[in-house]
Amino acid sequence: MSYCRFSSKSDVYLYEGSGNYGSVWVCSDCFLYNHTEHLLLTRRDALAHLKQHLRAGHRVPGMALARLRSELVWEGRWRSRWRSHWPRFRRTGQSVAHL
Ligand SMILES: [Zn+2]
Repeated sequence: MSYCRFSSKSDVYLYEGSGNYGSVWVCSDCFLYNHTEHLLLTRRDALAHLKQHLRAGHRVPGMALARLRSELVWEGRWRSRWRSHWPRFRRTGQSVAHL
């Protein structure tokens, strides 16, 4: 699903795609990079890229920025939760192995 596409309110077409190593964010026909496909490897990079467009005076819908920001918050929470549960998973794995 795209974050934003070309319209009267947007000079940017950004979508999440999948690459060989997981998700990538693609700025399609990027105005900043000679109308090529510009790949961003993380959400943080994608957000920084949208800000670059804003600085260049391009129109970027606020919704696209808001969605990336909220996904970043979600991603951070998920990571910290996973880390705090990890030792328990490992213990469970060991006890299963001993049965
Ligand atoms: Zn771009």
